[in-house]
Amino acid sequence: MRRACTTCSRHFDVAHQDALAAVQCPACEADGYNRRGIYLSKQGDYQRAVAEFDQALRLVPAHAQASNNRGYARAALRLYDRAVADFDHAIKLDPRFAAAYNNRGLVHMAREAYAEAIADFTAALDFDPAIALAWMNRGFARSAQGLFQEALADLDQAIQLSGKLANAFHNRGFVHTALGDFDRALADYDAEILLKGDRPYAYYNRGFVYTILGNFERALADFDCAIRLKPNFAAGHFWRGDLYRARGETEHAVTNYSAALMHNPAFLVAYFHRGDALHLMGRHAEAAEDFSATIRLDPKNPAAFSNRGQARAAQGEFVLAIADFDEALRLNPKYLHAYHGRGLAYAAQNDHDRAVIDHIEAIRLCPHSAEAYNNFARFWASCPDRGRRDATMAIELAQQACEISARQDWSCLTTLAAAHAENGDFAEAIRWSERALELAPPLQKHAVRETLQDLRGRLS
Ligand SMILES: [Zn+2]
Repeated sequence: MRRACTTCSRHFDVAHQDALAAVQCPACEADGYNRRGIYLSKQGDYQRAVAEFDQALRLVPAHAQASNNRGYARAALRLYDRAVADFDHAIKLDPRFAAAYNNRGLVHMAREAYAEAIADFTAALDFDPAIALAWMNRGFARSAQGLFQEALADLDQAIQLSGKLANAFHNRGFVHTALGDFDRALADYDAEILLKGDRPYAYYNRGFVYTILGNFERALADFDCAIRLKPNFAAGHFWRGDLYRARGETEHAVTNYSAALMHNPAFLVAYFHRGDALHLMGRHAEAAEDFSATIRLDPKNPAAFSNRGQARAAQGEFVLAIADFDEALRLNPKYLHAYHGRGLAYAAQNDHDRAVIDHIEAIRLCPHSAEAYNNFARFWASCPDRGRRDATMAIELAQQACEISARQDWSCLTTLAAAHAENGDFAEAIRWSERALELAPPLQKHAVRETLQDLRGRLS
């Protein structure tokens, strides 16, 4: 039998047994399911939304909107294959369906298939250049591919179309950072934070830019905000630790690295940096443990072996230290620090011949390294076996180290001072020590000052 639809008034056929229930034509009924699905999607209830879209498509299999919407809900549920099938279907029904291209692009992006994502966003924009989100998405995909200039143009367009897209500002801030345009990056993160003040990554990224610019106070304030908003923010704790370390506040640095590791026990670099910080503080056993943790996570890391070697040498465990330096050099035969460290460990065992060989090898491999000359100079200036000291050799090598580093390396300058002192020329030693003191980082100034006082005492 036939009835008039209560919504659109069109007549439609009804099977006899449904005569009382059916009040809408299938098209209007499908639209009703579609609307409820959209409502549920907006509430974040994607499971029930999918069920509504199922009903709509059962009634009208060619319902392009419902297919697109179901795809969106499925994508939110991470059912990516089925989501893509829905978008394909919607696009087949309506080849100019801009939103369906945009949504399919988002699934490609979630799968890190950026080239496919860019193609879909481009199709969406061909059919509807007013979709600010599609510009933003393509900008993000292009920046993920390292196409920063193209990404910038897209994000500019997105922001021109809608000044309220916090993500567009966030992504453009990232692109400006990657392009080294730090003032614009800061302005973008400011805009993002003005729109949405509760996003930890906005503060985190801005703090990162402030760190690059050397504005430690503001960087610290931003990392504090990021961590307040996301207390388990491992990377936030880590960067705050690095900031403290750069300021010479090693104690605070260690606390922050520990927090980062509590929230992410596989945070390799956090072990490494905490180990460095502990080593600086003279807590060598704990430092060695951190380098062991680094090695467990990354067994081919020469720096981790070399640093553990240094921590072990500092505890007087020279045999174990030498084994670590050997392993570092097996992994990277050009790893300068390991030659230096092994040279020192040999020297501490009174094996000065081998120490000399390591220093020479380091210079042979890296003839432009101030550090290599510096280390060798230090050997001649302060060899524990006093009979082996050679002030002339020490001065010559230290001068070379200072020249390579343009006299800006405090460590090379202290070695030059030590070489002159060994030569009995205390006035010259004091001159270079004073210069070293000016350049030394906060944590090292104390030791340089003590040496300087000692030298002044010897002069008078
Ligand atoms: Zn109807």
